[in-house]
Amino acid sequence: MAQPELDQPNGAVATGPATPELTNYTPRYIDIGINLADPIFRGRYHGKSRHPDDLKAVVGRAVEVGCTKLIVTGSSFKSSRDALKLAKEFPGTVFATAGIHPCSSSIFSPSHHKHHDESQSEGEDGDEHTPACDPDPSKPIPDGDGVDLVRSDQIIADLTDLIAKARSSSSSSPELVAFGEFGLDYDRLHYASKEVQLHSFAVQLALAASLKPQLPLFLHSRAAHADFVRLLKEAFGERLERLEKGGVVHSFTGTVEEMRELMELGLYIGVNGCSFKTAENCVVVKEIELSRLMLETDGPWCEVRPSHEGWKYLVEFEAKAKAAAAETVDEPEKPKQQQQQGKKKGQKKEPEVPDRYKVVKKEKWEEGAMVKGRNEPCTIERVARIVAGIKGVSVEEVCEAAWENTVKVFGLDS
Ligand SMILES: [Zn+2]
Repeated sequence: MAQPELDQPNGAVATGPATPELTNYTPRYIDIGINLADPIFRGRYHGKSRHPDDLKAVVGRAVEVGCTKLIVTGSSFKSSRDALKLAKEFPGTVFATAGIHPCSSSIFSPSHHKHHDESQSEGEDGDEHTPACDPDPSKPIPDGDGVDLVRSDQIIADLTDLIAKARSSSSSSPELVAFGEFGLDYDRLHYASKEVQLHSFAVQLALAASLKPQLPLFLHSRAAHADFVRLLKEAFGERLERLEKGGVVHSFTGTVEEMRELMELGLYIGVNGCSFKTAENCVVVKEIELSRLMLETDGPWCEVRPSHEGWKYLVEFEAKAKAAAAETVDEPEKPKQQQQQGKKKGQKKEPEVPDRYKVVKKEKWEEGAMVKGRNEPCTIERVARIVAGIKGVSVEEVCEAAWENTVKVFGLDS
């Protein structure tokens, strides 16, 4: 695949191929939650084309930083199919999940007008974006509408069919590696009511439990912990003893107690930028056992921002890396060049946390640059560095633990 240029002409960029690590370790990452099927990675925003399709460059940048495996989230029929297509296009690098996200669960509702056709059509809803991670509690859809049970049966039959077809693919590399994304999201009841979400989760859990062999689960839980755990137990037993392949609760933002309960049930915890927003979030991340940790970006959403509590660990990391680089006498050339470049730019103060790649607004898209506000998998190194900072362990320990956990649960080649 296309490898983007390392050296950007504009000095505003990056620190070259690798921000000096404190050891000689070369990190390796698996992004367990990346919404690469979102049209935004084809340059399409809300139905309008804003720049060329740069999906290959996005994958290229990921691979370049060491994120050599991407598990692309399927969150609806369309995105699950698109994720599976991407897995075919990038064998051994891209893998897919298939399921119906709580925010896409309105297809189970009687008031949903696209009804069962949605599960079949390819072209319709061509620019459906994945739901953003920010809650909007302002316009919840109330319960009371019930669920369309006839349509529900059809949806589950279609999903069963989609999974069976994906599993029978003759490709040498597995394409479908998990059931999901599915679960509950009570922060976002404006997409689907609680009763519809509960139904969607329950019927998909029943399907997941019936698969032979089962698939690992890619789960989403927001502000819904008690119901989430109750339904999991109803499907797989009090200790989830009938859950054959395990699962991960991704984009975790719950409490320490909730996280411990999930770990005790044998589940893994996925963290991304949304997991570091507040000091409370970071306390939770500190308590995640390395043996239960997975890393993700949830791009195009959930980027780490300077306003987030976790940002300070990136500042710390850069400061340490800089100090280590200054002490290195073996390689005086590169730092010098970079310093001179920095001086030429003169007026611009060097950011505390430099971007590895140039970042431009989508209106000013250019080849090799990232798009402002569109998170992508190459930023997973930030997630790993923040987790390491919070837990007070090395990036190597974080990366290796997450890699091993992910390879094991999703059955990937190491
Ligand atoms: Zn999610």
